[in-house]
Amino acid sequence: MGLPRFDTHEVLNQSPPYENVDLFTSDVPLQEAARANGAAGELAALSEFGRHWGSAEMMAQARLANEHEPELKTFDPRGFRQDTIEFHPAYHYFMAQSIEAGLHAMTWNADGTAAGAPSEVARAARYYMVAQIENGHMCPVTMTRASVGALALEPALIAQLMPKISSRRYDPSFRPWWEKTGITLGMGMTEKQGGTDVRTNSTRAEPAADGYRITGHKWFMSAPMSDVFLVLAQAPGGLTCFALPRFTPDGTVNGLRLQRLKYKLGNRSNASSEVEFVDAFAWRVGAEGRGVRTIIEMVQLTRLDCAIASAGLMRMALAQAVHHTRHRTVFQKRLADQPMMRTLTADLALELEGIVALVLRLCRSFDWAERDPLEAARARLLTPAVKYWVCKSAPGFIYEAMECLGGNGYVEEGVLARLYREAPVNAIWEGSGNVMCLDVLRALARESDQARAVLTSLVQSCAGLPGTAEAAAFIVAALSAADAEAHARAAVEQLAMLAAAAALAESGPPHIAEAFARTRVATRRGATYGTAALDGELSSRILMRALPA
Ligand SMILES: Cc1cc2nc3c(=O)[nH]c(=O)nc-3n(C[C@H](O)[C@H](O)[C@H](O)COP(=O)(O)OP(=O)(O)OC[C@H]3O[C@@H](n4cnc5c(N)ncnc54)[C@H](O)[C@@H]3O)c2cc1C
Repeated sequence: MGLPRFDTHEVLNQSPPYENVDLFTSDVPLQEAARANGAAGELAALSEFGRHWGSAEMMAQARLANEHEPELKTFDPRGFRQDTIEFHPAYHYFMAQSIEAGLHAMTWNADGTAAGAPSEVARAARYYMVAQIENGHMCPVTMTRASVGALALEPALIAQLMPKISSRRYDPSFRPWWEKTGITLGMGMTEKQGGTDVRTNSTRAEPAADGYRITGHKWFMSAPMSDVFLVLAQAPGGLTCFALPRFTPDGTVNGLRLQRLKYKLGNRSNASSEVEFVDAFAWRVGAEGRGVRTIIEMVQLTRLDCAIASAGLMRMALAQAVHHTRHRTVFQKRLADQPMMRTLTADLALELEGIVALVLRLCRSFDWAERDPLEAARARLLTPAVKYWVCKSAPGFIYEAMECLGGNGYVEEGVLARLYREAPVNAIWEGSGNVMCLDVLRALARESDQARAVLTSLVQSCAGLPGTAEAAAFIVAALSAADAEAHARAAVEQLAMLAAAAALAESGPPHIAEAFARTRVATRRGATYGTAALDGELSSRILMRALPA
């Protein structure tokens, strides 16, 4: 016998779940940016990837991975020190999927050199789709791929590790790295007394017969179950980068003592630890005293991933909002047909058009950096600017998308709440907002000719777009002023938007590039979304690109 029908429980006017979608073909701006930036040969593979990651099953697994947080197992039942992390199977599932897809290594050749075009763009398109579904596991995926940039300074070490790093078989077992089918890498720079200012690191490194011995702590060290960590420590010659494995070369467990896991706002599926190093074995990476210079090779790549991931979070929030407003009726009209809601969602979609074009265009610069000095200069100048603007935009953007779903947006069973809690981390780690602006200033001061050449090329790409020449003049004036730091946020934000307009001019249709430049570069948008001057016809066109009806 079925349950008696409740007269009071007829569910009406709710939007159907947003699931079983092709995350690639339902996203016109993403397709255009992938095609324009060199990944035209990947479109079928990207669509297959988008269907898989957009399935209801993946979305269900993401909820599980975040509801069941990792647990630190400090001791085994008999009191022996253990220092391992227990994850829900859903987390391991995502790790296996992303590693099988090569997101942790596909931009590298077998010898650790850069694979070149279009590997960065092809990876970024995938990473953007994965970030829409589950973000926590992307932390070790990002760190693994980025660490190769620094390890490449040590040819003998990279030759040993690369076969395990580039393996597409995820192996979560707690064993020495050489016994595993594949390995992941983490990094530890932040200490209690300083995260930005790593020169204050107090962790010590003493030369030993076989390498170095490290003693000290790290206040944040995410993905503590990784097989090798890049860490900074004070060697006799100054701050130095080291590769610290979980097991010493003789196969014993290395001296890492995990103290506790951070209880975080978001990023719940990922473990972030506080750790003590007790006479831990490590290999030196790069010269003594060159620690910051060495690890910066890695940090540029992690900053790029922060921007891609934030864009992915925004994309899922936008898609949920547009989907919901097309199904929900208020005052006898679909929400999507209410003029104010249409302007709001179109304004969000237009912002993301610029961001997606910008991020994939930046990845193209990484793809070509070794062969084209202008692209290298572009990657150098724009990476901190893009990280700054995109990561900072995410929380406000997602909040506005959440409100489009009304109360349903605020409850934990929905996806919006998780996206919102996830959003701020990308701005904070790997160089917080002000630090990114200082990095843009540094690039301008140290490589001013190259930076000016980049600005000139941005203005050329923007030819005919409103306000772009004036924006470039403002950026130059503000960033070269005697008190440049005081104006840096305004100028860096403008630089990112100018670069977004330039990227849209290269990859999007003219009316989208024009609308973006008119509402973001020539005039300032209001303090909230939905305040840009977009007429009904243009809004409808933007929304059809964002999500086909
Ligand atoms: C979830 C999570 C995971 C993390 N995982 C890792 C990890 O795996 N490995 C790791 O090493 N770290 C990790 N971190 C740490 C993170 O990288 C640091 O928190 C970050 O770099 C900032 O350092 P801090 O916390 O010491 O803040 P501070 O350096 O004290 O900075 C505080 C604020 O001051 C600003 N500021 C700094 N200098 C200036 C200046 N000159 N002018 C103006 N403003 C300035 C910064 O922008 C920031 O807003 C993680 C953090 C989080 C939240």
